[in-house]
Order: sequence, then C-alpha cells, then structure tokens
Amino acid sequence: MSETRIYGRRRALPTRATEKPAATGTDTAITRRDVLAGRVVKTGAGPAHAAGWDDVDKVASAAGGGDLYLKVNENRMVIKILGDGPFDVCASHWIDEIEDGSKSVRCWGTPDCPLCAIGDKAKRFSAFFDVVSLEDPEYPALKVWDVGIKIARQLKEIATDEKRGPLNRGDLYFTIRKEQKKKSVEYTLERVKERDLDEEYNVSPLSEEALQQFQAECHEYGDKVKEPLDEEGMEEIVRMLMDD
Ligand SMILES: [Zn+2]
Repeated sequence: MSETRIYGRRRALPTRATEKPAATGTDTAITRRDVLAGRVVKTGAGPAHAAGWDDVDKVASAAGGGDLYLKVNENRMVIKILGDGPFDVCASHWIDEIEDGSKSVRCWGTPDCPLCAIGDKAKRFSAFFDVVSLEDPEYPALKVWDVGIKIARQLKEIATDEKRGPLNRGDLYFTIRKEQKKKSVEYTLERVKERDLDEEYNVSPLSEEALQQFQAECHEYGDKVKEPLDEEGMEEIVRMLMDD
C-alpha cells in the first residue's frame, strides 16, 4: 500500500527537526556544536555570544536537530540541570508501522486524541529538561534531556525534598548512565555535590558566568521540542493502522 510511503515523505520532514535523530550521520555537526558551545563558555559574554549561538542553531537545523538531545551512554556522565522542573511533559504513542520517520508520536493528551480514540495506548512517558552536559568537561553543551517515568519520579522526589532539592540548586550536579539489560534499558541517576566533582569525576564546576549564559538559552515552561502532529497527520496514521 502506497499510503505508508506518502505518510513518510509528507510527515517526516516537519517533525524530524524536533525528533530524536538516527543514531549515526550527525557526528560532524555534534563536534562543531560542542566546540561552539565551548567557545561561548570560554570567551565569556559579549557580542560573540549571540553570534556563536546563531551558528549553533544553523548547524543544528542543517543536521536535522541531531544534537538537540542528551545522549546518555554506559559511562557516567556529569550534567547540571538548569530548571527546577521539566519544561514539558508528554506521553507518546509508539507506531511500529511508521517506516520513515519517528515511530514515536506525541499523544494529544486530550480525550479527542485520534490514536487514543482507536484504542492505541500512549505508553511512553517523557519529561523534558534543559541540562548542561559535561560529558566533555572542556566543552559544556546545552542539551534537552528526555527523561522516562522512573528517572522523572526520582527527580521529583529530590526536587520536592527541602534538604536535597531544588534540582537547579547552585551546588548540585547529577550523573546519569544507562545499562543495557536483556530486555530493557536501565538508567542510574546520582546526585553529586559541586565540591566532589573534581575529585570524583575530574570535572570542574561551571563558572557563574557560563551558567548564566546557558540559563539564558533555556526553554520556557510549556515549550515543545516534540511537536504534536496536526489532525491531518494523525488521520494518516490512523488510516495506516486501520489498513493493516
Ligand atoms: Zn493519544
């Protein structure tokens, strides 16, 4: 059925820029962005700041937004959370039948979501945080961290704990890593005090100036990096599922 291919061509383009990228093919852009981000931090504020970030945006959109998201791996990675909570939360439907483009489709979150209406359950939870990745401590980089339900609950517990929170407390950093288990991926989150960063992870804390620059680039509450499809887009998926 040609329906699938039509869907892929028409829908993949607008959403791809804000979706998780394919695993490969964006290495050059990532390096460039990281370098740019590093230069911004090292040279301080001033006119170069805006110019640097303009380049970042250009390169990032040329690469299909490939380096927007934090990529958690098997090595413990130090991050700094910038807000005191997620700037956006959503559930997503997972549509295996989508061959070209992201299989993850944002649920409208309302009773009239067309995919919910045909009985598909939005099983995947995402909370989106702005974080600075210190994976390469020389080049701190602003990323969006797409967090699943387990880690989101841990973060909420810390955020609402007077003694351990808030998440963006000045002296508070985190480490995150993932472990590939037989049938699932497990994430491990740990709090790190700023004073232990150097000794335990060989990472220097962000300067106040760098931190402020990153904070200025943060998303506002309610911003969506993962855009919902419009009615037409949803209808195409529904048709595709019904045709099967
Ligand atoms: Zn839905």
